[in-house]
Amino acid sequence: MKDLQQALQQRQQQGLYRRRRMLQGPQGRQIQLDGQTLLNFSSNDYLGLSNHPAVKQAFIDAAQRYGVGSGSAHLVNGHSEIHHQLELALAEFSGYPRALLFSTGYMANLAVAQSLCGRGDFIIQDKLNHASLLDAAQLSGGRLLRYPHKDHAQLQQQLQGADGGEILLCSDAVFSMDGDEADIASLVSLSQQHQAWLMLDDAHGFGVLGEEGRGSLSRQQISNADVPIYMATLGKALGTAGAFIAGSEALIEYLIQHARSYIYTTAMPAAVAAATLCSLQLLTSEPHRRQQLAENIASFRQLAAARGIALMPSDTAIQPVLVGDADRATQLSEALFTQGFHLAAIRPPTVPANSARLRITLRADHQQDDLIALLDALSQLQQQTR
Ligand SMILES: *Cc1c(COP(=O)(O)O)cnc(C)c1O
Repeated sequence: MKDLQQALQQRQQQGLYRRRRMLQGPQGRQIQLDGQTLLNFSSNDYLGLSNHPAVKQAFIDAAQRYGVGSGSAHLVNGHSEIHHQLELALAEFSGYPRALLFSTGYMANLAVAQSLCGRGDFIIQDKLNHASLLDAAQLSGGRLLRYPHKDHAQLQQQLQGADGGEILLCSDAVFSMDGDEADIASLVSLSQQHQAWLMLDDAHGFGVLGEEGRGSLSRQQISNADVPIYMATLGKALGTAGAFIAGSEALIEYLIQHARSYIYTTAMPAAVAAATLCSLQLLTSEPHRRQQLAENIASFRQLAAARGIALMPSDTAIQPVLVGDADRATQLSEALFTQGFHLAAIRPPTVPANSARLRITLRADHQQDDLIALLDALSQLQQQTR
């Protein structure tokens, strides 16, 4: 039997040990963690909707009406009228004929590969895709091929070599640990040349990018018809929980029949669906949040450049500072914590070896002074330890 204590010690020695801090209030510009008040540079609640009064009220009202738990799976009797309304609204907003709700993004991603692919099929992915897409490929039993980040020459070779089965080409639309974006037009044309299904995971684009926050396809002016499988999550910019897959009528019906992570799990609470409907409406009725976020991203990059802090090539709310060594990333993150800033050190295996980083995520409600304070503190620490 494996010596778990020893395995844990080894993780600690490698500077890869993970521990959880305790959150004592809502997500916001500031958060309470482990009894301290900190500026929050670590949440995916980009627009501040998770604690929006209207979203909370929608949740409370729906809980009064439907209770808390949904009581069963969607295919039994847990599919409420609110879930259904949300599916219609998500389809409309994302520009697809239909959408299907899932309890988490992880499960939505498992559903697609598992339902469409099996032995003899190919799943081709960017190496920096989210872990759930990689796990999905493994679960499906199909053959997983991974190309170096955004290396479409390699991708083309892999597509050429994928003979005789279904091909599912999957990419994050916004890469979650880097913040850069996929070249969707190129993915579309390669997928069409090779008759591959193209699936995009827009967890970090939906709600923030494109016209009215419709996501990466709108941002890159790609027609929905060219991306047959679109996935996005609800726990990030929308501030609630869950995810959806959007696509054709036939795709969605096929998933309802075959996707194990849809069929064999309890439906998300109706109140979560109601809160999400409210968030979705706020995207359109309160566009200033998205504008503020875009302004914060631009000014953060300018302020960093002025201080000689190197950022990665990202135009999204994810703005990592590459550190390299995992221990050093942890030290920097802890030093910043004591100065009142919360940002996560992201270490292997979440990112490749020697590419540990501080993953800064910006919010719409950050003020210019917050950005300056963080960058000044970071610049000072970098100078001290250089
Ligand atoms: C967060 C995330 C997921 C998983 O979504 P959950 O709803 O948190 O399970 C999937 N893909 C990407 C790119 C993500 O960032």
